[in-house]
Amino acid sequence: MLRLKELELLGFKSFADRTRLICDGSTAGVVGPNGCGKSNLADAVSWVLGEQSARMLRGERMSDVIFNGTGTRPPTGMAEVSMTLVESEPPSMISAAADELEKVIGVGETADASGSRSEPLAKDARPLRRPGDEIKVTRRLFRSGESEYLLNGDACRLRDIQDIFMGTGLGPESYAIIEQGRIGQILSSKPSDRRAIIEEAAGISKFKSRKRLAEAKLESSRQNLARINDILEEIVKQVNSLKRQASKAARYKELHGELRAR
Ligand code: ATP
Ligand code: MG
Repeated sequence: MLRLKELELLGFKSFADRTRLICDGSTAGVVGPNGCGKSNLADAVSWVLGEQSARMLRGERMSDVIFNGTGTRPPTGMAEVSMTLVESEPPSMISAAADELEKVIGVGETADASGSRSEPLAKDARPLRRPGDEIKVTRRLFRSGESEYLLNGDACRLRDIQDIFMGTGLGPESYAIIEQGRIGQILSSKPSDRRAIIEEAAGISKFKSRKRLAEAKLESSRQNLARINDILEEIVKQVNSLKRQASKAARYKELHGELRAR
Protein backbone atom coordinates (compact mmCIF):
# COMPACT_ATOMS: atom_id res chain seq x y z
CA MET A 1 0.00 0.00 0.00
CA LEU A 2 1.32 3.42 -0.94
CA ARG A 3 1.25 6.18 1.62
CA LEU A 4 1.68 9.88 0.91
CA LYS A 5 4.88 11.10 2.49
CA GLU A 6 5.63 14.47 1.01
CA LEU A 7 4.25 16.99 -1.42
CA GLU A 8 6.47 19.72 -2.78
CA LEU A 9 5.19 22.64 -4.80
CA LEU A 10 7.02 25.36 -6.69
CA GLY A 11 5.23 27.94 -8.78
CA PHE A 12 2.03 25.91 -8.69
CA LYS A 13 -1.12 28.04 -8.48
CA SER A 14 -0.91 30.18 -5.31
CA PHE A 15 2.33 28.49 -4.14
CA ALA A 16 4.96 30.73 -5.72
CA ASP A 17 7.78 29.74 -3.36
CA ARG A 18 8.99 26.21 -2.82
CA THR A 19 6.55 24.70 -0.31
CA ARG A 20 6.97 21.31 1.31
CA LEU A 21 4.21 19.43 3.10
CA ILE A 22 5.30 16.45 5.11
CA CYS A 23 2.81 13.81 6.22
CA ASP A 24 4.04 11.73 9.13
CA GLY A 25 1.75 8.80 8.48
CA SER A 26 -1.23 9.73 10.54
CA THR A 27 -4.28 11.61 9.36
CA ALA A 28 -3.49 15.10 8.12
CA GLY A 29 -5.89 17.98 7.74
CA VAL A 30 -5.43 21.30 5.99
CA VAL A 31 -7.21 24.22 7.59
CA GLY A 32 -7.33 27.84 6.54
CA PRO A 33 -9.55 30.71 5.52
CA ASN A 34 -11.40 30.77 2.20
CA GLY A 35 -9.12 31.17 -0.75
CA CYS A 36 -5.90 30.37 1.10
CA GLY A 37 -5.08 27.48 -1.25
CA LYS A 38 -6.45 24.32 0.41
CA SER A 39 -8.08 23.03 -2.77
CA ASN A 40 -4.94 23.99 -4.71
CA LEU A 41 -3.13 21.27 -2.74
CA ALA A 42 -5.64 18.64 -3.89
CA ASP A 43 -5.26 20.02 -7.43
CA ALA A 44 -1.48 19.59 -7.10
CA VAL A 45 -1.96 15.91 -6.25
CA SER A 46 -4.27 15.32 -9.23
CA TRP A 47 -1.93 17.27 -11.49
CA VAL A 48 1.26 15.44 -10.56
CA LEU A 49 -0.56 12.16 -11.19
CA GLY A 50 -1.17 13.26 -14.76
CA GLU A 51 -4.52 15.05 -14.79
CA GLN A 52 -4.98 16.27 -18.38
CA SER A 53 -8.15 18.29 -18.00
CA ALA A 54 -7.63 21.94 -17.04
CA ARG A 55 -11.28 22.06 -16.02
CA MET A 56 -10.74 19.33 -13.42
CA LEU A 57 -8.01 21.58 -12.03
CA ARG A 58 -10.45 24.46 -11.90
CA GLY A 59 -8.79 26.36 -14.72
CA GLU A 60 -9.44 27.14 -18.35
CA ARG A 61 -6.05 26.35 -19.81
CA MET A 62 -3.36 24.05 -18.43
CA SER A 63 -1.06 27.09 -18.06
CA ASP A 64 -3.48 28.38 -15.39
CA VAL A 65 -1.70 26.14 -12.90
CA ILE A 66 1.46 28.26 -13.17
CA PHE A 67 1.68 31.00 -10.53
CA ASN A 68 0.42 34.06 -12.37
CA GLY A 69 1.69 36.76 -10.07
CA THR A 70 0.18 39.20 -7.63
CA GLY A 71 0.23 42.97 -7.34
CA THR A 72 3.69 42.81 -5.83
CA ARG A 73 5.14 39.70 -7.42
CA PRO A 74 5.79 38.80 -11.04
CA PRO A 75 4.44 35.51 -12.45
CA THR A 76 6.75 32.50 -12.55
CA GLY A 77 7.73 30.68 -15.73
CA MET A 78 7.24 27.19 -14.47
CA ALA A 79 5.04 25.09 -12.21
CA GLU A 80 6.49 22.03 -10.54
CA VAL A 81 4.92 19.51 -8.17
CA SER A 82 6.69 16.50 -6.69
CA MET A 83 4.97 13.84 -4.66
CA THR A 84 6.83 11.25 -2.62
CA LEU A 85 5.02 8.08 -1.67
CA VAL A 86 6.30 5.31 0.50
CA GLU A 87 5.36 1.66 0.32
CA SER A 88 4.06 0.60 3.68
CA GLU A 89 2.49 -2.48 5.18
CA PRO A 90 -1.24 -2.40 4.61
CA PRO A 91 -3.31 -2.08 7.79
CA SER A 92 -3.95 -5.51 9.35
CA MET A 93 -7.62 -5.40 8.37
CA ILE A 94 -6.68 -5.06 4.69
CA SER A 95 -4.00 -7.76 4.78
CA ALA A 96 -6.47 -10.13 6.47
CA ALA A 97 -8.97 -9.44 3.69
CA ALA A 98 -6.25 -9.96 1.08
CA ASP A 99 -5.29 -13.32 2.66
CA GLU A 100 -8.93 -14.33 2.62
CA LEU A 101 -9.25 -13.35 -1.04
CA GLU A 102 -6.08 -15.27 -1.84
CA LYS A 103 -7.58 -18.40 -0.27
CA VAL A 104 -10.73 -18.04 -2.36
CA ILE A 105 -9.16 -17.29 -5.74
CA GLY A 106 -5.91 -19.20 -5.25
CA VAL A 107 -2.93 -17.00 -5.95
CA GLY A 108 -2.84 -13.75 -7.77
CA GLU A 109 -2.28 -10.08 -7.56
CA THR A 110 -3.00 -10.04 -3.84
CA ALA A 111 0.41 -11.63 -3.43
CA ASP A 112 1.93 -8.32 -4.52
CA ALA A 113 2.04 -6.86 -1.05
CA SER A 114 3.78 -9.81 0.53
CA GLY A 115 6.23 -9.98 -2.35
CA SER A 116 5.61 -13.64 -3.16
CA ARG A 117 4.05 -14.52 -6.44
CA SER A 118 3.65 -17.85 -8.11
CA GLU A 119 3.46 -16.64 -11.70
CA PRO A 120 6.62 -15.48 -13.44
CA LEU A 121 6.64 -11.71 -13.85
CA ALA A 122 5.51 -10.54 -17.25
CA LYS A 123 8.13 -8.64 -19.20
CA ASP A 124 6.46 -5.28 -18.62
CA ALA A 125 5.53 -5.91 -15.00
CA ARG A 126 6.73 -3.36 -12.50
CA PRO A 127 9.30 -4.45 -10.00
CA LEU A 128 7.71 -5.31 -6.68
CA ARG A 129 8.03 -2.71 -4.00
CA ARG A 130 9.12 -3.59 -0.49
CA PRO A 131 7.87 -1.78 2.57
CA GLY A 132 9.96 1.37 2.94
CA ASP A 133 10.59 1.79 -0.80
CA GLU A 134 9.90 5.30 -2.00
CA ILE A 135 8.54 6.62 -5.25
CA LYS A 136 8.88 10.24 -6.23
CA VAL A 137 6.87 11.52 -9.14
CA THR A 138 7.37 15.00 -10.54
CA ARG A 139 5.55 17.00 -13.15
CA ARG A 140 6.75 20.29 -14.63
CA LEU A 141 5.07 22.71 -16.95
CA PHE A 142 6.73 25.71 -18.54
CA ARG A 143 4.94 28.75 -19.89
CA SER A 144 6.30 27.82 -23.33
CA GLY A 145 3.98 24.80 -23.13
CA GLU A 146 6.83 22.35 -22.66
CA SER A 147 6.11 19.72 -20.02
CA GLU A 148 8.03 16.99 -18.25
CA TYR A 149 7.31 13.98 -16.09
CA LEU A 150 9.94 12.47 -13.83
CA LEU A 151 10.01 9.26 -11.88
CA ASN A 152 12.54 9.24 -9.07
CA GLY A 153 14.32 12.09 -10.84
CA ASP A 154 14.54 10.44 -14.27
CA ALA A 155 12.50 11.65 -17.21
CA CYS A 156 9.67 9.28 -18.01
CA ARG A 157 6.42 9.07 -19.92
CA LEU A 158 3.03 9.91 -18.47
CA ARG A 159 2.13 6.27 -19.12
CA ASP A 160 4.87 5.10 -16.71
CA ILE A 161 3.33 7.20 -13.94
CA GLN A 162 -0.19 6.09 -14.76
CA ASP A 163 0.95 2.46 -14.73
CA ILE A 164 2.20 2.78 -11.17
CA PHE A 165 -0.99 4.20 -9.81
CA MET A 166 -3.48 2.16 -11.77
CA GLY A 167 -5.51 -0.01 -9.41
CA THR A 168 -4.50 2.04 -6.38
CA GLY A 169 -7.42 4.43 -6.58
CA LEU A 170 -5.17 7.19 -7.87
CA GLY A 171 -5.54 6.23 -11.52
CA PRO A 172 -7.72 7.90 -14.14
CA GLU A 173 -10.87 6.42 -12.57
CA SER A 174 -9.69 7.94 -9.31
CA TYR A 175 -11.72 7.77 -6.14
CA ALA A 176 -8.86 8.75 -3.84
CA ILE A 177 -9.59 12.41 -4.37
CA ILE A 178 -13.22 13.23 -3.76
CA GLU A 179 -14.18 16.86 -3.89
CA GLN A 180 -17.15 18.72 -2.52
CA GLY A 181 -20.36 17.44 -4.06
CA ARG A 182 -18.75 14.36 -5.57
CA ILE A 183 -20.25 11.88 -3.07
CA GLY A 184 -23.76 12.97 -4.03
CA GLN A 185 -22.74 12.75 -7.67
CA ILE A 186 -21.45 9.18 -7.17
CA LEU A 187 -24.63 8.11 -5.40
CA SER A 188 -26.86 9.55 -8.08
CA SER A 189 -24.68 8.59 -11.06
CA LYS A 190 -25.47 5.97 -13.67
CA PRO A 191 -24.76 2.39 -12.55
CA SER A 192 -22.09 2.15 -15.26
CA ASP A 193 -20.21 5.16 -13.82
CA ARG A 194 -20.50 3.76 -10.32
CA ARG A 195 -19.20 0.46 -11.59
CA ALA A 196 -15.99 2.16 -12.76
CA ILE A 197 -15.32 3.36 -9.22
CA ILE A 198 -16.02 -0.05 -7.69
CA GLU A 199 -13.81 -1.72 -10.29
CA GLU A 200 -10.96 0.65 -9.50
CA ALA A 201 -11.39 -0.09 -5.79
CA ALA A 202 -11.37 -3.81 -6.50
CA GLY A 203 -8.16 -3.42 -8.51
CA ILE A 204 -9.72 -4.66 -11.74
CA SER A 205 -9.32 -1.54 -13.80
CA LYS A 206 -5.62 -2.11 -14.46
CA PHE A 207 -6.43 -5.47 -16.02
CA LYS A 208 -9.20 -3.90 -18.04
CA SER A 209 -6.81 -1.30 -19.34
CA ARG A 210 -4.25 -3.98 -20.22
CA LYS A 211 -7.04 -5.90 -21.96
CA ARG A 212 -7.90 -2.81 -24.01
CA LEU A 213 -4.22 -2.44 -24.99
CA ALA A 214 -3.95 -6.12 -25.91
CA GLU A 215 -7.13 -5.87 -27.98
CA ALA A 216 -5.77 -2.85 -29.82
CA LYS A 217 -2.57 -4.81 -30.59
CA LEU A 218 -4.65 -7.77 -31.78
CA GLU A 219 -6.65 -5.49 -34.06
CA SER A 220 -3.51 -4.02 -35.57
CA SER A 221 -2.10 -7.54 -36.08
CA ARG A 222 -5.38 -8.50 -37.74
CA GLN A 223 -5.04 -5.58 -40.14
CA ASN A 224 -1.43 -6.53 -40.89
CA LEU A 225 -2.58 -10.05 -41.61
CA ALA A 226 -5.26 -8.79 -43.99
CA ARG A 227 -2.64 -6.70 -45.78
CA ILE A 228 -0.31 -9.70 -46.05
CA ASN A 229 -3.15 -11.79 -47.48
CA ASP A 230 -3.79 -9.12 -50.12
CA ILE A 231 -0.12 -9.11 -51.06
CA LEU A 232 -0.06 -12.90 -51.13
CA GLU A 233 -3.05 -12.99 -53.47
CA GLU A 234 -1.34 -10.50 -55.77
CA ILE A 235 1.89 -12.55 -55.77
CA VAL A 236 0.06 -15.81 -56.44
CA LYS A 237 -1.47 -14.16 -59.53
CA GLN A 238 2.02 -13.13 -60.67
CA VAL A 239 3.36 -16.62 -59.98
CA ASN A 240 0.62 -18.19 -62.12
CA SER A 241 1.31 -15.82 -64.98
CA LEU A 242 5.06 -16.55 -64.74
CA LYS A 243 4.33 -20.27 -64.70
CA ARG A 244 2.41 -19.93 -67.96
CA GLN A 245 5.26 -17.94 -69.50
CA ALA A 246 7.80 -20.47 -68.22
CA SER A 247 5.97 -23.42 -69.72
CA LYS A 248 5.65 -21.55 -73.04
CA ALA A 249 9.41 -20.88 -72.97
CA ALA A 250 10.11 -24.53 -72.22
CA ARG A 251 7.89 -25.64 -75.10
CA TYR A 252 9.70 -23.15 -77.39
CA LYS A 253 13.09 -24.52 -76.34
CA GLU A 254 11.92 -28.04 -76.98
CA LEU A 255 10.56 -27.23 -80.44
CA HIS A 256 13.60 -25.11 -81.26
CA GLY A 257 15.89 -28.01 -80.34
CA GLU A 258 13.82 -30.36 -82.53
CA LEU A 259 13.96 -27.90 -85.44
CA ARG A 260 17.75 -27.63 -85.16
CA ALA A 261 18.10 -31.40 -85.07
CA ARG A 262 16.10 -31.78 -88.26
P1 ATP B 1 -12.17 27.55 -0.08
O1 ATP B 1 -12.09 27.48 1.39
O2 ATP B 1 -13.03 28.67 -0.55
O3 ATP B 1 -12.47 26.25 -0.76
P2 ATP B 1 -9.40 27.18 -0.74
O4 ATP B 1 -8.52 27.29 0.44
O5 ATP B 1 -9.73 25.83 -1.24
O6 ATP B 1 -10.71 28.01 -0.57
P3 ATP B 1 -8.18 27.50 -3.28
O7 ATP B 1 -9.33 27.38 -4.19
O8 ATP B 1 -7.28 26.35 -3.12
O9 ATP B 1 -8.68 28.01 -1.87
O10 ATP B 1 -7.26 28.72 -3.69
C1 ATP B 1 -7.76 29.80 -4.41
C2 ATP B 1 -6.70 30.84 -4.49
O11 ATP B 1 -5.65 30.40 -5.32
C3 ATP B 1 -7.27 32.09 -5.06
O12 ATP B 1 -6.90 33.16 -4.24
C4 ATP B 1 -6.59 32.21 -6.41
O13 ATP B 1 -6.31 33.53 -6.75
C5 ATP B 1 -5.30 31.48 -6.16
N1 ATP B 1 -4.76 30.96 -7.43
C6 ATP B 1 -5.27 30.01 -8.23
N2 ATP B 1 -4.52 29.84 -9.34
C7 ATP B 1 -3.48 30.69 -9.21
C8 ATP B 1 -2.37 31.00 -10.03
N3 ATP B 1 -2.13 30.37 -11.19
N4 ATP B 1 -1.51 31.94 -9.58
C9 ATP B 1 -1.71 32.58 -8.42
N5 ATP B 1 -2.75 32.35 -7.62
C10 ATP B 1 -3.62 31.41 -7.99
MG1 MG C 1 -11.58 24.80 -1.61
